[in-house]
Amino acid sequence: MKKFSLGALAFTLLMLGAVSCQKDQLNQNKEVPLEVISKLEKLGFNPDGIEVIAEGYRIERDIIITPEFLSSTPAIHTVPDAEQYSTNNLVNAANYGTISIYIPVETSGGGRGNKGTSGFSATYVAALDEAIARYNAENLTISFTRASQSNNADIVFTRLSKGEERQGILGSSGFPTASGDPYGEVKMSGILQSRYNIQQAGIATIMAHELGHCIGFRHTDYYDRSISCGGSPTDEGASSIGANQIQGTPATADLAGNGSWMLSCTNGSSRPFTPYDKVALAYLY
Ligand SMILES: [Zn+2]
Repeated sequence: MKKFSLGALAFTLLMLGAVSCQKDQLNQNKEVPLEVISKLEKLGFNPDGIEVIAEGYRIERDIIITPEFLSSTPAIHTVPDAEQYSTNNLVNAANYGTISIYIPVETSGGGRGNKGTSGFSATYVAALDEAIARYNAENLTISFTRASQSNNADIVFTRLSKGEERQGILGSSGFPTASGDPYGEVKMSGILQSRYNIQQAGIATIMAHELGHCIGFRHTDYYDRSISCGGSPTDEGASSIGANQIQGTPATADLAGNGSWMLSCTNGSSRPFTPYDKVALAYLY
């Protein structure tokens, strides 16, 4: 079965082969200042495969670490072995009862690869509405709404670069700020349907996953990505940004049902919230 990392595509890596994959990672590390690698390690992240991007750095191919985030000094938390995890920073529900999200619609081109557009197809707009509906159905202290324009939207969707989309990155986002703001941008591949044949519900799942990071969720299997990605066990690093066990969730991650929406890798299928996902959402919000 194809396993899409959120987001690298595992099968893309397999095609590259272990040797070239290691080489790519070494090359990527060379571009990152040693002090940044050292800071990330101190924060508890696994710096293998770290990439330099416009916003700062990207780890695990879908989590963006900004320079501001890197220079903050969050409290140290112990690392539990449990299923659902959150960062220390969460969205301040008092300020964000409703989080508005803007997604730009493609203006020209469209079709295969959405050439000539910086926006998204109608399927993506419908997928975002589906992701929003999944969250809002949980009656949380925060809710989401789709904004008709980017002005004042709390979270804005943008396209990954064409190169990143071709590499098979599915989406990326970051974590809430220390002052309780959600992370403000979700970068998405615009070729999920045209190139990878991922349908609306699968795209909604990837969007819900990236929005999950924006409000403070870490990967359910962050401590062993092989649970959802296959391959050898890889630990993302617990990190002092927090990998806090969410009360009421079980001791290990698994793939029961379709699996948690916050698993590291997906096969592109729909992953509505599992019962433990719902416990975790209700506990935090
Ligand atoms: Zn992720």
